[in-house]
Amino acid sequence: MDEHYDTQPKASHYVDGAYLEDTAGEAFDVIYPATGAVIGRLHQATDAVIEKAIAAARRAQAEWARTSPRERGRILTRAAQIMRERNRPLSVLETYDTGKPLQETLVADATSGADALEYFGGIAAGLTGEHIQLGEDWAYTMREPLGVCVGIGAWNYPTQIACWKAAPALACGNAMIFKPSETTPLSALKVAEILTEAGLPDGLFQVLQGMGPVGATLTTHPGVDKVSLTGSVPTGQKVYAAAAGELKHVTMELGGKSPMLVFDDADLDDAVGGAILGNFYSSGQICSNGTRVFVQKGLKERFVARLKERLDGAVIGDPMDEATNFGPMVSQRQMEIVQGYLKKGVEEGARLVTGGTRLDRDGFWLTPAIFDNVTDEMTIAREEIFGPVLSVLEFETEEEGIRRANNTPYGLSAGVFTRDISRAHRVIGQLQAGTCFINSYNDAPVEMPFGGVKMSGVGRENAKAAIEHYSQLKSVYVRMGRVEAPF
Ligand code: NAD
Repeated sequence: MDEHYDTQPKASHYVDGAYLEDTAGEAFDVIYPATGAVIGRLHQATDAVIEKAIAAARRAQAEWARTSPRERGRILTRAAQIMRERNRPLSVLETYDTGKPLQETLVADATSGADALEYFGGIAAGLTGEHIQLGEDWAYTMREPLGVCVGIGAWNYPTQIACWKAAPALACGNAMIFKPSETTPLSALKVAEILTEAGLPDGLFQVLQGMGPVGATLTTHPGVDKVSLTGSVPTGQKVYAAAAGELKHVTMELGGKSPMLVFDDADLDDAVGGAILGNFYSSGQICSNGTRVFVQKGLKERFVARLKERLDGAVIGDPMDEATNFGPMVSQRQMEIVQGYLKKGVEEGARLVTGGTRLDRDGFWLTPAIFDNVTDEMTIAREEIFGPVLSVLEFETEEEGIRRANNTPYGLSAGVFTRDISRAHRVIGQLQAGTCFINSYNDAPVEMPFGGVKMSGVGRENAKAAIEHYSQLKSVYVRMGRVEAPF
């Protein structure tokens, strides 16, 4: 088994069970965020490649829908096993692709992808319809696949996103064409190789590279039945609108500006730890991050002081060194976006407690930042930054905290830190968010549905909930007696 994968793949795309190149597609570079070095060069999918992939998917899916769910599950479980065995080389590749420290990718990327393959492999055989007794007559439902599904990914968790979409889709009998983010195109190709090796028939999981227009072509293609996007709200609006033309099924995993409420009675270190996990893991590039940290007045000063102390202990450096726990931003562009927000925060009157410094080295490095004295109107409290910038907002009463936490068009996640068990559940019950945490933040096990409300998304990934989004029900009424017509 390889210890490292080459960062230049054999070809750009993976179509019908094999690597495929078409140099007529516009070339783009793959960049290692820690150094800015070019580590690969790929080509965008041309219309010819897209047509080939869709035709292969349609052919393969018709057969796959007839394959027993148990057999489908067996293949996914085998793929999960292979993925776990290759965790290290996959993690190293993910670190090259994203810049995230190896310390993180070793535990959160291919492992999370394998969890999804294993979970949906395990439940595939149990995906049944219902029997409905109606007096003498009866009805039953059949759970059928949607057909050809398209997955479009963001760049923060490329392997995980590919697997979170492919595993439920394949378990239900669909084909999946996956377009990774152009910023992190490498690891999805390895997922494709592994699925083939596990016995997945050709054409059922394919990877096409490219920028937004490739995603847009796939979204509107009549040969595609469903689109699942992980990305920003503006992209979500475009994809949702484009899919509406043919009323295609959609899943939208979009952005957020999630709140975390820390009450006076919270365990200080747990709350600080939660704020770190919810703001600085993956250099803050996580959709569900609790970037608005509302801290009750009595605890605020101590909270900010402890947080700063813990942040000063972050090990920033070579992502391949397993001691490093904070890496670069994914790209020059993302770093500049975050720098823009840091500037705005200061201009609008927030107090920069620490961080936000551009490190004087190659690559896209910013130190983790805390803003204090943030108010609800400030840009940094309203817009998704998608970087290592935490805002502390002070509140006094429970009612005030809830009202201000909900004062956002987004609703992906929310967290509460308190030792009062009644308050924890009472507050969570009133927060407008799809994925919530009590005395914790950002845990996302495959057994728990994940997704947002309001402008953060449509549908759910993971758990049995995902099955609803990759299958449709056929209802069948069965009359046992004579048909009694009126004339
Ligand atoms: P993005 O919206 O710029 O791009 C996402 C994907 O959509 C990319 O693959 C891109 O090529 C593609 N795309 C762009 N325009 C398109 C179009 N018109 N039609 C079809 N596809 C198109 O997002 P990003 O910068 O890659 O990722 C960051 C965003 O993703 C953040 O807003 C973050 O919150 C969100 N995100 C959400 C989740 C979640 O599960 N809710 C997870 C990770 C990231």
